[in-house]
Amino acid sequence: MKNRSAISGILQMRCPQCREGKMFPANTLYTTQFMKMNDRCACCEQPFTPEPGYYFGAMFVSYALNAAFFIIVWLGMYLLMDNITVTDMIIALLIVVLGLLPITFRLSRVLWIYIFVRYDERENYKHELNS
Ligand SMILES: [Zn+2]
Repeated sequence: MKNRSAISGILQMRCPQCREGKMFPANTLYTTQFMKMNDRCACCEQPFTPEPGYYFGAMFVSYALNAAFFIIVWLGMYLLMDNITVTDMIIALLIVVLGLLPITFRLSRVLWIYIFVRYDERENYKHELNS
């Protein structure tokens, strides 16, 4: 049993309870299936949607992520470009909001469930994973 930090669990989008099982199916991030989430953890069987509408609040996390990403892009533009037009800003906003959509969608859900489901360091989960 590895001891993974919350940060690395979040970045690797793993189960909040055991930090082992993946929350999303592999190789679907930049596909039309980016919204697909595994039903439960393959390792500890933690359900990833504990109740209907569970991820309503994740919308606010996703707004915050979009705002943070946009500020980073805007700062980069401000430092690198002499003259930023409204068109530049709109293009940057579209790139951030649409280009990063699969990432903000998933990351906001991961952050949301990490707020409510605590890490549980039990030695014996039902299924040991090799990944
Ligand atoms: Zn788990």
